[in-house]
Amino acid sequence: QAKLQGGDQIAAFKKALHTQAFEALSLENQLRKNLRDPAQQELFLAFQPIVDLGSGEIAGFEALIRWRLADGTVIPPNRFIPVAEQSGLIQPLGKWVLDSACAALAALRANDPNAVDHMHVNVNVSARQLEQHDFVREINELLLIHNLPAQTLRLELTETVLMENAAQVQNFLGQLQEIGIGVAVDDFGTGYSSLSYLHRFSINTLKIDLSFVQSVLTNEHSKAITQAIIDMAQSLNKTVVAEGIETQEQAALIAAMGCRYAQGFLFSYPLEKEALPQLLDQQPLVPTPRE
Ligand code: C2E
Ligand code: MG
Ligand code: MG
Ligand code: MG
Repeated sequence: QAKLQGGDQIAAFKKALHTQAFEALSLENQLRKNLRDPAQQELFLAFQPIVDLGSGEIAGFEALIRWRLADGTVIPPNRFIPVAEQSGLIQPLGKWVLDSACAALAALRANDPNAVDHMHVNVNVSARQLEQHDFVREINELLLIHNLPAQTLRLELTETVLMENAAQVQNFLGQLQEIGIGVAVDDFGTGYSSLSYLHRFSINTLKIDLSFVQSVLTNEHSKAITQAIIDMAQSLNKTVVAEGIETQEQAALIAAMGCRYAQGFLFSYPLEKEALPQLLDQQPLVPTPRE
């Protein structure tokens, strides 16, 4: 009987594996179709503001990819980015993201050049995009096409990406720095990494992972780690952004701890580009209490 049960489990396992593989393959095929024919418009970007906690003004936006199927279902990036990474589609997809993010920022600048002159757009980059030999040239071309200064684009990389191929990454970051493109370490504090890369690599910004930020009021360890990241960023002369701020209390504490920038649902959900002019008009996003 045990044997029969084992067999059943294996069958169930095989079926689950098959379902997963089938789902990945079907996502991959659909993604390929979308990249070939962007007119389908199933892929789009959502933009979340990065806010200066002192003034409530928007410093920039993070571009976050979304995929809405014809039937209205939205597939979150955590489900299809891994598929894109495994299939190699991340390279054309990443180019599409960079192009669309630059286009959106250029449109905002054309609309009201003074109001957004200083603003930047952050784009998430996967490890496999760094393997693309002409990646920096591609980024440069996109900046030219959209007539954007290099300082308006920032790339977000995770610690794991930075650690995976140190020599390649160092070369890549050096080229970015020469051009003037900023680099942020995403989900800082969660990856497997050595802190020594912080002074070896040209990095401008640390983004404190939302898992620390969201427990900063309730967990002493999270608070200590958050404070350590803020202090370290300050002494290394890097800017620091707290991710995932949802409450006024979190914002107040993070600001008091010395963190200048924040991102989170408290200020705004990620929005489609059409909603950005109105968001810009709403500044300061959360009026800070003044004495
Ligand atoms: P990330 O780069 O760390 O992005 C921040 C995530 O936190 C986003 O999830 C955002 O919607 C979410 N978030 C922002 N504020 C809050 C908050 O107050 N509370 C909570 N609970 N969440 C908040 P999203 O958009 O689902 O993206 C997930 C991840 O997918 C991103 O994490 C990033 O690693 C990846 N991703 C998104 N777009 C791209 C892309 O264009 N290319 C690549 N390679 N990866 C992307
Ligand atoms: Mg990010
Ligand atoms: Mg993050
Ligand atoms: Mg993340």
